[in-house]
Amino acid sequence: MTKQGVEPDSFSQPFWDAANEKRLVIQSCVDCDILQHPPTDTCRDCDSDALEWKQVSGRGKIYNYGVVHDCPVRLLQQDQPFNLAVIMLDEDPGIQMYSHLPGVPVDDVPVGAAVEVIFEPSANGQLVPEWRVIDE
Ligand SMILES: [Zn+2]
Repeated sequence: MTKQGVEPDSFSQPFWDAANEKRLVIQSCVDCDILQHPPTDTCRDCDSDALEWKQVSGRGKIYNYGVVHDCPVRLLQQDQPFNLAVIMLDEDPGIQMYSHLPGVPVDDVPVGAAVEVIFEPSANGQLVPEWRVIDE
C-alpha cells in the first residue's frame, strides 16, 4: 500500500536518516541506559537530555493488532480494511512500533510471531520501517 510521506521533526530526524540507510535506531539515555520511542528532547525516566541513538537488531514480536476500517487518512482509505499490528522490539518489549504487516491477510495476524524490520518507500521517498513475519 502507498504510505503517507513522512515529515521528520528535529527530534526524529536521526531516526528517519537512519531509516533511509535501512538501519533501525532507537533513542537511548546515556545516564540511565533506557530506550525510548518515539524520540523526545529528554529521557522519560530521569529527565536527562544526554540522549544518543542506538542501532537495534530489527527483530521483534507481534504484541497484538487491530483491523482499520475507517482510517481518517485519505491516502490510506483505498487500502481499507488493513491490519495495524503493535510490534514489541526484542531489545526492549516496552518499545512498541506499528505495522501494516505487508503480506499478512487482513484479520489473520499471528499474534506472538517473530517479525523483522524492512524498509519501504513512502509517498515522498522517505524510507519507513515496516515489519514482516519470519519463520523461526
Ligand atoms: Zn534517563
